[in-house]
Amino acid sequence: MAQDTEQQASGGVLPVDDEGFVIDTEDCEERETAYRERGTSRPITVVGNPVLHKECKDVTAFDDELAQLVADMFASQRTAEGVGLAANQIGVDLKVFVYDCMDDEGRRHVGAICNPVLREVPADRRQLDESNEGCLSVPTAYAELARPDYAEVTGQDEKGNPVKVRGTGYFSRCLQHETDHLYGYLYIDRLSKRDRKDALRQMEEGTPRYPVVPND
Ligand SMILES: [Zn+2]
Repeated sequence: MAQDTEQQASGGVLPVDDEGFVIDTEDCEERETAYRERGTSRPITVVGNPVLHKECKDVTAFDDELAQLVADMFASQRTAEGVGLAANQIGVDLKVFVYDCMDDEGRRHVGAICNPVLREVPADRRQLDESNEGCLSVPTAYAELARPDYAEVTGQDEKGNPVKVRGTGYFSRCLQHETDHLYGYLYIDRLSKRDRKDALRQMEEGTPRYPVVPND
């Protein structure tokens, strides 16, 4: 309906399921487009840029400037063909990430989370998944990394409302990866020394398919 679309386009509140988790799987195309069309794509920071290697600041002002940042992040994510993007990946020192990612059942999730905190997940839901992982800030490199295949994140939406998000499979990986970013960690920081070196070598040998911020 028109009114719903309008509300969501301006960053409306997502519905929640009966356990209080946001339903971020509806109207994905419309919501992602609405964000992206209000945004400007910005170049991506790469490993070595100091903004990626320290904890970002908490979001405290849920204002127009934040809404513009989220829009810019969706635009940048699309340009770089990413499935998740943290604010410090476009050089902004604030705890926000956006995502446009499939879970292990092929459902698309679209959303934005401020001040995310990963929740401890019960042991029976923490099967490790050893899929390949990559990062827009480590262009052209991939490495296998074991992560729990289920994750829950609490935080706030871009209006400041408390939210809980959960995901399985690749989306679980995404939630963990993006939260890590905002605390100053890249996935390569979780690799063995050897695998990290190999990922950095892949990056040296490759050419990113999207604009990046050169390091000094
Ligand atoms: Zn990343």
